[in-house]
Amino acid sequence: MDIIDLSPEQFYELSERVLKIAADHLRGLPSRIIPAKGSGAEIEQIFRRTFPEQGSPEEALRGLQEAALYSRAQNGRFFGYVLGSGEPAAAVADLLCSVLNQNVTAWRSSPAAVTIEKEVVRWIAEVIGCEEFSGILTSGGSSANLMGLAMARETKLAANERGVRATDSHTVYASTEAHMSVSKAVSLLGIGRNNLRLIPVDESFRMLPQALEQTIQNDKKLGITPLAVVATAGTVNTGAIDPLAQIAEITEKHGAWLHVDGSYGALAAMTIPERFRGIARADSLALDPHKWLYQPLDCGCLLHRDHQAAHAAFAHSGDYVRSLHEDPIESHAYFEESIELSRRFRALKLWFSLQYHGMTAFRGSIQKDLRHAQRLGALITKTPELRLMAPIELSAVCFRYVGDLSSPFPEADRVNLDILRRINERGRVYLSNATLHSKFCLRVCIVNHRTTDSDIDEVVPEVLAAAKEVLANRARHS
Ligand SMILES: *Cc1c(COP(=O)(O)O)cnc(C)c1O
Repeated sequence: MDIIDLSPEQFYELSERVLKIAADHLRGLPSRIIPAKGSGAEIEQIFRRTFPEQGSPEEALRGLQEAALYSRAQNGRFFGYVLGSGEPAAAVADLLCSVLNQNVTAWRSSPAAVTIEKEVVRWIAEVIGCEEFSGILTSGGSSANLMGLAMARETKLAANERGVRATDSHTVYASTEAHMSVSKAVSLLGIGRNNLRLIPVDESFRMLPQALEQTIQNDKKLGITPLAVVATAGTVNTGAIDPLAQIAEITEKHGAWLHVDGSYGALAAMTIPERFRGIARADSLALDPHKWLYQPLDCGCLLHRDHQAAHAAFAHSGDYVRSLHEDPIESHAYFEESIELSRRFRALKLWFSLQYHGMTAFRGSIQKDLRHAQRLGALITKTPELRLMAPIELSAVCFRYVGDLSSPFPEADRVNLDILRRINERGRVYLSNATLHSKFCLRVCIVNHRTTDSDIDEVVPEVLAAAKEVLANRARHS
């Protein structure tokens, strides 16, 4: 007897029960307290069980319910990190992705999946003004940054055969606001973190092109070769967009590779293309549909202009000449342009979601996030106890509790940290933090299709209520 398979009827019934759990979760979201309930020990208690010898469907289904119950409730008032809100139509398609179980290694393994992935990557490239790019879906921006920089390294400092044995050093340039995944990639690729130059930023947290030019010139005088420049299109702290056209100019002049980290911001080029001028001059570009296209995790994307460079970096079969003798469509192999071999059919949810809602809806939602950030900025500006700490370029809003300005308190960092903890414990809104000018700031980031005006209007009162509690508590203990 086959003891693992389900009949199609059993599958259908089981799916209905799981869908009910999912729908109940969605129904409950708006009114829930956001942080996951329970302490670490309590949650361990709930989920720790011995590996069951006998299957128990009812017990297993209860487990799913508990998984939902003890998860963070990411409703319209969740503004932490850069976390997309998980659009439910895409989630439904993700179930089919698992049922189809296509392995998106190459066309010959998964013809529809490869074709759909190529198609949806083309849509994304077009809609942000990078028509000439092709690419691939990844697990996220970190892997897209790693792969983009792997292409840069192999193009400018070929090392796949012999390892990195440069006689002179090679350097990578990024701003002080670049994401940590950039320095991770630089170290993993054998370039060495000491060879990552962090270029200073202006008062709006954008890379200073003159400083980039100067640093490259100084390095060249020392016999150091500029390998790549990473420009950020939407820094994770404040959403600052580096001056892409100017950086492209400098990068081209010095023969370096230009990688744009657009993991947070690049998809906003759908609605505000003028702010991303120069983006199409990148050699490679990372972006994250699981952030600003609201896709369920995970769904990142790498775009690149030179398909051969992707092959040079990632093809290991060595005989891709054979594609000359085969049908160019049917010989497409993603494993020769990626660090992964087995890959899930990520494109299905994205392709479905984009068709289901249409471009106008996504543009409108991004527009709404941008407007919400401005609305919150105005509310903060009107509140004497709060101070905006950075210009609002996209949908990240950084601010601080400064209290009564006539008597500035010395431990402002500590107080703001306590306020952040208190806000998130209260659980009505959820914020994260950023350090700007060495100061601890509260940070709201809105990539959330569920957020309404009234959700935004809860932020300032929640911050003030948390501050009041924190300050009262400090007064009691001093
Ligand atoms: C989120 C982010 C990343 C990392 O992307 P993941 O999808 O989390 O791996 C890289 N760079 C920036 C600017 C980001 O906002």
